Amino acid sequence: MYYIDFDNTLYETGKLTKDVLNSFSNIISTQKQINFQEIYAYIKDSFNSTTDNFISFAKSLSIKYNISFNQLYNPLMEIIITNGSQYTFPDAINFLKKLKKTGHKSCILTFVFPKNLSQQALKLTGSGLLEYVDEVYTVTSSKSKLHLDFENSTFIEDSPKEIEDFYNSGARNIIRIIKPNNEKRTSKKLNIPVEIPTFTTFDDIITPELSLNDEKTIE
Ligand SMILES: [Mg+2]
Repeated sequence: MYYIDFDNTLYETGKLTKDVLNSFSNIISTQKQINFQEIYAYIKDSFNSTTDNFISFAKSLSIKYNISFNQLYNPLMEIIITNGSQYTFPDAINFLKKLKKTGHKSCILTFVFPKNLSQQALKLTGSGLLEYVDEVYTVTSSKSKLHLDFENSTFIEDSPKEIEDFYNSGARNIIRIIKPNNEKRTSKKLNIPVEIPTFTTFDDIITPELSLNDEKTIE
């Protein structure tokens, strides 16, 4: 089984957050005739992704600025659901197709704070990735606490903490993904005694077990 992280591995979460906050700022700025930069600076500073989700944040903004909640909620759904697949890294989809084609099972394994469970479901749905994977686990505690076959599975992850925990749980097939605009994570040196294969794109992950028997292109 390939357990693959979602945020910042398969999906460009930072870009989504930027687009959502930008959309909220635009709507409030237009409705209330407030300078865009001013409102954007406030919104960016006050959004805390560990304690807020976009929906609760939209609610509090609608109260603060006295505009209807739906004026923020509808464009939010358009970003996350209707246009959600634009945040999925294209190389990730190709990789999932390759796994399927070579007879491997895949599972999106994603951690969120409990408050973000419903938002994560929306992101997953909008991402367009669900049709390419066999399973999805969304967990609210450390992934390494799950009863998984750590030794015989492959883990693909961007979070240094999760990579260290996987290793310490017995995982030896770990791939680190370093995507652009994820410097907080990518600059960190791992505190484990081995080197982890590290890639900026899934296209570069080439292992014997993933090579196709024939030269058919992946559709
Ligand atoms: Mg991640």
